[in-house]
Amino acid sequence: MKQHFDIVVVGAGPAGLNAAQAAAREGATVAVLDDNPRAGGQIWRQGPGHPPQVPLQGLLAVLKTQTNVTLLPSTRVIAPLSPRGLLLESAEHGGVSISYDRLILATGARERLLPFAGWTLPGVTGAGALQALIKGGMPVRGERIVIAGSGPLLIAALATARAAGGRVLAVVEQASAFEVARFGASLLGEPAKLRQAFTMTRGFAGVRYWTGSIVRKAHGDGRVERVTIRRGEHESTLDCDRIACGYGLVPNITLAQALGCAITEAGEIVVDDEQRTSVDGVLAAGECTGVGGAELAGVEGEIAGLAASGVSANRTALQAQRARWRRFARRVETAFALQTAARTPPDDATLLCRCEDVSFGEVRAYPDWREAKLHTRCGMGACQGRICGAAASLYLGWQAAAPRPPFSPAQIGTLMAISEEPLPAE
Ligand SMILES: Cc1cc2nc3c(=O)[nH]c(=O)nc-3n(C[C@H](O)[C@H](O)[C@H](O)COP(=O)(O)OP(=O)(O)OC[C@H]3O[C@@H](n4cnc5c(N)ncnc54)[C@H](O)[C@@H]3O)c2cc1C
Repeated sequence: MKQHFDIVVVGAGPAGLNAAQAAAREGATVAVLDDNPRAGGQIWRQGPGHPPQVPLQGLLAVLKTQTNVTLLPSTRVIAPLSPRGLLLESAEHGGVSISYDRLILATGARERLLPFAGWTLPGVTGAGALQALIKGGMPVRGERIVIAGSGPLLIAALATARAAGGRVLAVVEQASAFEVARFGASLLGEPAKLRQAFTMTRGFAGVRYWTGSIVRKAHGDGRVERVTIRRGEHESTLDCDRIACGYGLVPNITLAQALGCAITEAGEIVVDDEQRTSVDGVLAAGECTGVGGAELAGVEGEIAGLAASGVSANRTALQAQRARWRRFARRVETAFALQTAARTPPDDATLLCRCEDVSFGEVRAYPDWREAKLHTRCGMGACQGRICGAAASLYLGWQAAAPRPPFSPAQIGTLMAISEEPLPAE
């Protein structure tokens, strides 16, 4: 099966859906694909008991009326194909190749997980991962939960866990009390965000909010039972059933790197004013171009959709909105920048690569990521270094090599379709 679309959008989160809607409005044929079974991306993830939220409902309702839009759920990009094509694996259709005139990358971000002693025990997840699991139907009613790491995602996880009946004992934030307070005060300039923060935290009633603190160790026999938290010079231990720990987000640039798009030192896709990347015909929007929240992702998506469809309309208002949310994103970045305690590597015995069971000590004996991979197999398991690569980059300053397809485990039948299509030249 091979289909051609004027515009292909990878990612059905706020950026991708807004891009698709804007592009389709101008008459282009548009395909939006996402590896999740339902559209919404991370923030609007749907699941049992979690129907589409209001903004998503609106976007999907409009997209449904646009007959030139094709939604491809449960479909992931396995490899780029040359020229201007993608090899996909779809739960419904298996291996599929499609081609495009313009490609919009709206691949979002991933959570940054940093290893600590005991982090591979069952019951330990990322903070965003806990949300995804709850939205996917995992029961947490009555469970004692500690949420840790850094950034606004901890607050979203707190709200989701409480709404599902979890007993959140503490939110452990690595940023200092001063930075958090300064950020809180800055929300006075964004009243909607302030209201949202208050609703989500309920003013932290009934929950400890520990700043300048990090998780040191998860304890348990076969499953997490306790957590040790470093709070300045002191340590506290809490009995718990779950630890959800994530240190902010890292842009998901796998496909962009494979296509040869320029990437900033901070690991974001470089885009111009129209969201065009350095590769002709490829645009990018949302958190793959820099972490900044759903509002920024949505505006960038709309600009990318208009630019991809070749509309020359005045975009001053959209650009002003984008500038506003980019300023907000910078405030978040400053407030929750990782401090020394979070940047300090774990001890040598702690697993860095949990797919291949490789400890931090084994990995740091090598001079760079490539050597470490070749000698220890770190980063060569199911997640393909998405987790340990980000941690190694933070601790050791290593740059991960550009990813090579297939980007994720794929069926043999899908891979065989590659032989019919030439891969882009290296
Ligand atoms: C785990 C997690 C949970 C989050 N929860 C919240 C929250 O509750 N509240 C909040 O304000 N913010 C949350 N965020 C932050 C969130 O990322 C943004 O605010 C917002 O969703 C960004 O929109 P986006 O369109 O840029 O990307 P996303 O919403 O992340 O959408 C990108 C989509 O692209 C898909 N994708 C990526 N690569 C491929 C590929 N190769 N093939 C197919 N599909 C692909 C992804 O699965 C995803 O659905 C969360 C982030 C993460 C990582």
